[in-house]
Amino acid sequence: MKSTGIVRRTDNLGRLVIPKEIRKNFGIDAHHDIEIYVEGQTIIVCKVQNKCVFCDVDEGLQAFSGKLVCSACSANIRQTPDILQRIVHDVGNNIPIQK
Ligand SMILES: [Zn+2]
Repeated sequence: MKSTGIVRRTDNLGRLVIPKEIRKNFGIDAHHDIEIYVEGQTIIVCKVQNKCVFCDVDEGLQAFSGKLVCSACSANIRQTPDILQRIVHDVGNNIPIQK
């Protein structure tokens, strides 16, 4: 993990502003969904990816094996044979393809 050297203080309600430069670098706009993880004593803030895992489209998304897939890719997945569906599932979940 790389330190940015930036220190911010929470306000009276515990809110914290993500510095503008970091928001810009990560493409975080106003009202963007942010997910918060905890790992030991570390708080991890992640930009939620609201795009299809296959084609980066951001509309008509639906969950498929825990990942967001657009309606066009979802239709393509349904038309593929079972073996390809397993490969698509594994790729979508970053599981190495087994031979
Ligand atoms: Zn797609």
